Amino acid sequence: MAVASLAAGSEDRADRDRKVVTRFAPSPTGFLHIGGARTALFNWLFARHHGGRFLLRIEDTDRARSTRPAIDAILDGMRWLGLDWDGDAVFQFARADRHAAVARELLAGGHAYKCFATAEELEAMRAEQKANRQPLRYDGRWRDRDPAEGGDAPFVIRLRAPRESATTIEDRVQGPVTVQNGELDDMVLLRSDGTPTYMLAVVVDDHDMGVTHVIRGDDHLNNAFRQLALIRAMGWAEPVYAHVPLIHGADGAKLSKRHGALGVEAYRDELGILPEALFNYLLRLGWGHGDAEIISREQATEWFDLAAIGRSPSRFDTKKLENLNGHYIREAADERLAELVAPQVIEAAGRDIGGSGLDLLRRAMPFLKPRAKDLRELADAAGFLFRTRPLDMDERASSLLDPAAIDLLAAVHRAIAATVEWSAPALEDAVRGVADTAGIGLGKVAQPLRAALTGRATSPGIFDVLVLLGREESLGRLSDRLAG
Ligand code: GLU
Repeated sequence: MAVASLAAGSEDRADRDRKVVTRFAPSPTGFLHIGGARTALFNWLFARHHGGRFLLRIEDTDRARSTRPAIDAILDGMRWLGLDWDGDAVFQFARADRHAAVARELLAGGHAYKCFATAEELEAMRAEQKANRQPLRYDGRWRDRDPAEGGDAPFVIRLRAPRESATTIEDRVQGPVTVQNGELDDMVLLRSDGTPTYMLAVVVDDHDMGVTHVIRGDDHLNNAFRQLALIRAMGWAEPVYAHVPLIHGADGAKLSKRHGALGVEAYRDELGILPEALFNYLLRLGWGHGDAEIISREQATEWFDLAAIGRSPSRFDTKKLENLNGHYIREAADERLAELVAPQVIEAAGRDIGGSGLDLLRRAMPFLKPRAKDLRELADAAGFLFRTRPLDMDERASSLLDPAAIDLLAAVHRAIAATVEWSAPALEDAVRGVADTAGIGLGKVAQPLRAALTGRATSPGIFDVLVLLGREESLGRLSDRLAG
């Protein structure tokens, strides 16, 4: 096919000429990890950019390791990130008969052959190769033999791969990559128990699903050469390949849990990351558009291309993710934030907060969100609104409440109790009056006042806190300290 042999750079024309179909093909042996989510994102963006289709295929052929919870976590994670797929998810295992049929078709056409070599025989072959310091690969011993010689013995079906010359893949990320065909052995397509191999399944599914662009981690680059041999044997259209460098940790080693890499659901549930922040972060992890750091979903869809995917591994940087998250929290609607943090707030309060509590949370958001870098912090910062009297003071708050401070609070109580209008400017006037009378700065009054009202040494602006708590609750919390 012309498309696969196009040089990088002519991307636009090639992609326009052919309706784009991409796919994400996770193996559900674990949760949706950060690398998988990025692969899904790139495929989604590429399809959406070209007005094409983005398909999902669950590669569940490893029956022992594929689990329903993992499948659910993958679907859930994709939905949360807004990576909607077209049509129903395809389950690979269910298509085993079709895969086997293709193997038989290749056999009938002479592109594949039966191999009767026993496990012991292959073991001995490898031992000899090892002893001779030769590469370990199947030596093609049944390639030209008469299958009748195998009799009724069990056999596998192997691809009759080209041995001469070389195969070049014009990878959209890696550039042209060439492998000598002699280096690739004749891979197994169908095992002796009739089950298809993973390599066969991937190629058949990609073909049947009409996949035009295979965008995936570069740990699959080697597979691409074998897969291409199979595609050519079937005379099928060749996809465009784009193998994306893997994500590394801050220390440069391949990303693992040790680097704080978690499943997507942990970023949501445990770290309080917003989906648009993770979306933006994953996008910038290996792809760029000039200096742009903050990139919306719409902008990303408009800009995304394979040419701007970097060739070197990108490094996972938790700080960057937090910064982006802080940005998106500040941008987010107050109502949405209130709903997102409500469960944590309710848990910390140990009681339901009701509709009025949710409304209070929403009204507090403009004052809380400028400082929060994740939803946990946001919920934590909102906690003071729902603590019950008398408030527990944390250590720093207690230390602010010495006898002199209590005297000041008594004066503040009198002054604000007398304010007619419970508004930030009126309350500020009243508190300033107390500071002026005492001949001290406003901060000296604000600190114990904050401690008394929130039980903490940090909070939003103190006059906003007074307004949010309301007259009765504010005066009550102050009285609690005076009585002590
Ligand atoms: N199932 C493979 C994986 O999760 C992906 C195969 C592919 O993209 O071709 O690594």
